[in-house]
Amino acid sequence: MTALLYPVLGLGVLALVASCAGPAGRDALGHRPGPRGFNTVIIDAGHGGHDRGAASKATGQLEKDLTLDMAKRIRSQLGGSFRTILMRSDDTFVDLDERVVRANRYRDAVLVSMHFNSGRGQMRGPETYYWRVDSHGLAVRLQRAMTQVSPQEKANRGLVRRRLRLTRNPFIPCVLIEGGYLSQPAEARLIGQPGYRQRLAAAIAAAIRTQAALGDAGTGPLPPPLSAPPSRASDRRE
Ligand SMILES: [Zn+2]
Repeated sequence: MTALLYPVLGLGVLALVASCAGPAGRDALGHRPGPRGFNTVIIDAGHGGHDRGAASKATGQLEKDLTLDMAKRIRSQLGGSFRTILMRSDDTFVDLDERVVRANRYRDAVLVSMHFNSGRGQMRGPETYYWRVDSHGLAVRLQRAMTQVSPQEKANRGLVRRRLRLTRNPFIPCVLIEGGYLSQPAEARLIGQPGYRQRLAAAIAAAIRTQAALGDAGTGPLPPPLSAPPSRASDRRE
Protein backbone atom coordinates (compact mmCIF):
# COMPACT_ATOMS: atom_id res chain seq x y z
CA MET A 1 0.00 0.00 0.00
CA THR A 2 2.67 2.49 1.02
CA ALA A 3 4.84 1.56 -1.94
CA LEU A 4 1.99 2.52 -4.25
CA LEU A 5 1.08 5.67 -2.39
CA TYR A 6 4.49 7.30 -2.23
CA PRO A 7 5.01 7.78 -5.97
CA VAL A 8 1.52 9.29 -6.22
CA LEU A 9 2.21 11.66 -3.32
CA GLY A 10 5.59 12.51 -4.83
CA LEU A 11 3.99 13.54 -8.10
CA GLY A 12 1.41 15.61 -6.26
CA VAL A 13 4.10 17.45 -4.31
CA LEU A 14 6.13 18.03 -7.48
CA ALA A 15 3.09 19.47 -9.28
CA LEU A 16 2.43 21.75 -6.29
CA VAL A 17 6.02 23.01 -6.23
CA ALA A 18 5.95 23.62 -9.97
CA SER A 19 2.73 25.63 -9.77
CA CYS A 20 3.98 27.64 -6.77
CA ALA A 21 7.10 28.60 -8.67
CA GLY A 22 5.11 29.85 -11.67
CA PRO A 23 4.98 33.58 -12.31
CA ALA A 24 1.39 33.94 -11.16
CA GLY A 25 1.53 31.72 -8.07
CA ARG A 26 2.74 32.33 -4.55
CA ASP A 27 6.39 32.50 -3.66
CA ALA A 28 7.89 33.23 -0.23
CA LEU A 29 10.62 35.64 -1.31
CA GLY A 30 9.54 36.64 -4.82
CA HIS A 31 12.95 36.16 -6.45
CA ARG A 32 11.55 36.03 -9.97
CA PRO A 33 10.30 38.40 -12.68
CA GLY A 34 7.07 40.27 -12.13
CA PRO A 35 3.73 38.70 -13.01
CA ARG A 36 1.90 38.97 -16.26
CA GLY A 37 -1.73 37.98 -16.71
CA PHE A 38 -2.68 37.82 -13.01
CA ASN A 39 -6.41 37.76 -12.34
CA THR A 40 -6.79 39.18 -8.82
CA VAL A 41 -5.93 42.62 -7.44
CA ILE A 42 -6.02 43.13 -3.67
CA ILE A 43 -6.42 46.82 -2.85
CA ASP A 44 -5.35 47.69 0.66
CA ALA A 45 -6.61 50.97 2.11
CA GLY A 46 -3.96 51.93 4.65
CA HIS A 47 -4.82 52.53 8.34
CA GLY A 48 -8.46 52.62 9.58
CA GLY A 49 -10.43 52.81 12.83
CA HIS A 50 -8.30 54.15 15.70
CA ASP A 51 -5.27 54.21 13.40
CA ARG A 52 -5.86 57.50 11.58
CA GLY A 53 -2.52 57.66 9.76
CA ALA A 54 -1.36 61.12 8.69
CA ALA A 55 -3.58 64.19 9.08
CA SER A 56 -3.51 67.38 7.05
CA LYS A 57 -3.29 70.61 9.02
CA ALA A 58 -4.37 72.47 5.88
CA THR A 59 -7.58 70.55 5.18
CA GLY A 60 -8.21 68.47 8.31
CA GLN A 61 -8.45 65.34 6.19
CA LEU A 62 -7.25 62.03 7.56
CA GLU A 63 -5.12 59.52 5.69
CA LYS A 64 -7.40 56.62 6.71
CA ASP A 65 -10.41 58.25 4.98
CA LEU A 66 -8.49 59.21 1.85
CA THR A 67 -7.00 55.73 1.43
CA LEU A 68 -10.45 54.12 1.66
CA ASP A 69 -11.82 56.60 -0.88
CA MET A 70 -8.90 55.81 -3.20
CA ALA A 71 -9.27 52.04 -2.79
CA LYS A 72 -12.90 52.26 -3.94
CA ARG A 73 -11.99 54.53 -6.85
CA ILE A 74 -9.21 52.16 -7.96
CA ARG A 75 -11.58 49.20 -7.77
CA SER A 76 -14.18 50.94 -9.93
CA GLN A 77 -11.48 52.03 -12.41
CA LEU A 78 -10.30 48.42 -12.75
CA GLY A 79 -13.87 47.51 -13.66
CA GLY A 80 -14.46 43.92 -14.61
CA SER A 81 -10.91 43.28 -15.86
CA PHE A 82 -9.88 41.64 -12.56
CA ARG A 83 -11.31 40.09 -9.48
CA THR A 84 -10.77 42.92 -6.97
CA ILE A 85 -10.55 42.42 -3.22
CA LEU A 86 -10.73 45.34 -0.79
CA MET A 87 -8.67 44.65 2.35
CA ARG A 88 -11.15 46.85 4.21
CA SER A 89 -14.31 48.45 2.88
CA ASP A 90 -15.18 50.64 5.87
CA ASP A 91 -13.54 52.53 8.72
CA THR A 92 -12.19 49.54 10.64
CA PHE A 93 -8.73 48.80 11.99
CA VAL A 94 -6.92 45.83 10.45
CA ASP A 95 -3.50 44.94 11.87
CA LEU A 96 -0.65 44.83 9.36
CA ASP A 97 0.12 41.18 10.12
CA GLU A 98 -3.57 40.32 9.60
CA ARG A 99 -3.43 42.11 6.22
CA VAL A 100 -0.53 39.83 5.26
CA VAL A 101 -2.48 36.73 6.37
CA ARG A 102 -5.46 37.83 4.27
CA ALA A 103 -3.29 38.60 1.22
CA ASN A 104 -1.70 35.16 1.46
CA ARG A 105 -5.08 33.51 0.92
CA TYR A 106 -4.87 34.45 -2.76
CA ARG A 107 -2.83 33.07 -5.62
CA ASP A 108 -2.39 34.68 -9.00
CA ALA A 109 -2.81 38.04 -7.27
CA VAL A 110 -0.99 41.30 -6.66
CA LEU A 111 -1.38 43.56 -3.63
CA VAL A 112 -1.39 47.36 -3.84
CA SER A 113 -1.41 49.16 -0.49
CA MET A 114 -2.60 52.76 -0.67
CA HIS A 115 -1.27 55.46 1.65
CA PHE A 116 -0.69 59.18 1.85
CA ASN A 117 2.48 60.60 3.25
CA SER A 118 3.70 62.95 5.93
CA GLY A 119 7.13 64.51 6.09
CA ARG A 120 9.25 67.52 6.80
CA GLY A 121 9.17 70.89 5.09
CA GLN A 122 8.13 71.09 1.48
CA MET A 123 8.43 67.40 0.54
CA ARG A 124 5.72 66.58 -1.97
CA GLY A 125 4.83 64.13 -4.70
CA PRO A 126 4.13 60.39 -4.83
CA GLU A 127 6.43 57.63 -3.57
CA THR A 128 6.40 53.89 -4.17
CA TYR A 129 7.84 51.16 -1.93
CA TYR A 130 8.65 47.59 -2.92
CA TRP A 131 11.05 44.89 -1.76
CA ARG A 132 10.49 41.69 -3.78
CA VAL A 133 12.08 41.26 -7.20
CA ASP A 134 8.67 40.26 -8.61
CA SER A 135 7.19 43.56 -7.43
CA HIS A 136 9.74 45.84 -9.12
CA GLY A 137 8.00 46.17 -12.50
CA LEU A 138 4.63 46.99 -10.96
CA ALA A 139 6.32 49.46 -8.58
CA VAL A 140 8.06 51.23 -11.48
CA ARG A 141 4.75 51.46 -13.37
CA LEU A 142 2.83 52.77 -10.36
CA GLN A 143 5.45 55.41 -9.54
CA ARG A 144 5.62 56.56 -13.18
CA ALA A 145 1.82 56.74 -13.42
CA MET A 146 1.37 58.75 -10.22
CA THR A 147 4.24 61.09 -11.12
CA GLN A 148 2.54 61.90 -14.43
CA VAL A 149 -0.61 63.00 -12.57
CA SER A 150 1.22 64.90 -9.83
CA PRO A 151 1.86 68.52 -10.89
CA GLN A 152 4.96 69.00 -8.75
CA GLU A 153 7.58 66.89 -7.05
CA LYS A 154 9.90 68.17 -4.39
CA ALA A 155 12.48 66.44 -2.19
CA ASN A 156 10.58 63.15 -2.12
CA ARG A 157 12.13 59.68 -2.26
CA GLY A 158 10.54 58.46 -5.49
CA LEU A 159 10.86 54.70 -5.95
CA VAL A 160 12.27 53.01 -2.85
CA ARG A 161 13.23 49.43 -2.09
CA ARG A 162 12.33 48.90 1.55
CA ARG A 163 11.46 45.91 3.68
CA LEU A 164 8.09 46.64 5.26
CA ARG A 165 5.45 44.21 6.43
CA LEU A 166 3.39 44.81 3.29
CA THR A 167 6.37 44.72 0.90
CA ARG A 168 8.31 41.77 2.39
CA ASN A 169 5.85 39.45 4.08
CA PRO A 170 3.11 38.59 1.55
CA PHE A 171 3.82 35.61 -0.74
CA ILE A 172 2.54 37.55 -3.76
CA PRO A 173 3.86 40.64 -5.57
CA CYS A 174 3.11 43.61 -3.31
CA VAL A 175 3.69 47.33 -3.57
CA LEU A 176 2.97 50.17 -1.14
CA ILE A 177 2.19 53.52 -2.70
CA GLU A 178 2.10 56.98 -1.12
CA GLY A 179 -0.20 59.21 -3.17
CA GLY A 180 1.38 62.47 -1.97
CA TYR A 181 2.25 64.45 1.16
CA LEU A 182 -0.62 65.54 3.41
CA SER A 183 1.97 67.54 5.36
CA GLN A 184 2.54 69.87 2.39
CA PRO A 185 -0.41 72.33 2.33
CA ALA A 186 -0.72 72.76 -1.45
CA GLU A 187 -0.50 69.03 -2.09
CA ALA A 188 -2.97 68.34 0.75
CA ARG A 189 -5.49 70.72 -0.84
CA LEU A 190 -4.99 68.99 -4.17
CA ILE A 191 -5.51 65.54 -2.61
CA GLY A 192 -8.64 66.96 -0.99
CA GLN A 193 -10.19 67.42 -4.45
CA PRO A 194 -12.22 64.40 -5.63
CA GLY A 195 -11.28 65.16 -9.25
CA TYR A 196 -7.57 64.85 -8.44
CA ARG A 197 -8.10 61.60 -6.53
CA GLN A 198 -10.06 60.28 -9.49
CA ARG A 199 -7.17 61.07 -11.88
CA LEU A 200 -4.73 59.45 -9.47
CA ALA A 201 -6.95 56.34 -9.18
CA ALA A 202 -7.28 56.09 -12.97
CA ALA A 203 -3.48 56.28 -13.36
CA ILE A 204 -2.95 53.61 -10.69
CA ALA A 205 -5.51 51.30 -12.34
CA ALA A 206 -3.88 51.85 -15.74
CA ALA A 207 -0.47 50.90 -14.31
CA ILE A 208 -1.93 47.67 -12.89
CA ARG A 209 -3.58 46.82 -16.23
CA THR A 210 -0.32 47.49 -18.10
CA GLN A 211 1.62 45.21 -15.75
CA ALA A 212 -0.95 42.45 -16.35
CA ALA A 213 -0.67 42.92 -20.12
CA LEU A 214 3.11 43.34 -20.48
CA GLY A 215 4.74 41.90 -17.37
CA ASP A 216 8.01 43.72 -16.65
CA ALA A 217 8.64 44.82 -20.27
CA GLY A 218 9.95 48.38 -20.36
CA THR A 219 10.45 48.73 -16.61
CA GLY A 220 14.24 48.40 -16.60
CA PRO A 221 16.57 45.76 -15.17
CA LEU A 222 15.36 43.70 -12.23
CA PRO A 223 16.98 44.49 -8.88
CA PRO A 224 19.18 41.82 -7.26
CA PRO A 225 17.42 39.21 -5.11
CA LEU A 226 17.66 40.00 -1.39
CA SER A 227 17.08 37.60 1.45
CA ALA A 228 15.96 39.01 4.75
CA PRO A 229 13.71 37.85 7.58
CA PRO A 230 10.07 38.91 7.60
CA SER A 231 9.45 42.48 8.70
CA ARG A 232 8.07 42.85 12.24
CA ALA A 233 6.23 45.54 14.15
CA SER A 234 9.46 46.39 16.01
CA ASP A 235 11.49 47.04 12.83
CA ARG A 236 10.47 50.61 12.16
CA ARG A 237 7.44 52.80 11.90
CA GLU A 238 5.34 51.90 8.87
ZN1 LIG B 1 0.11 55.43 5.84
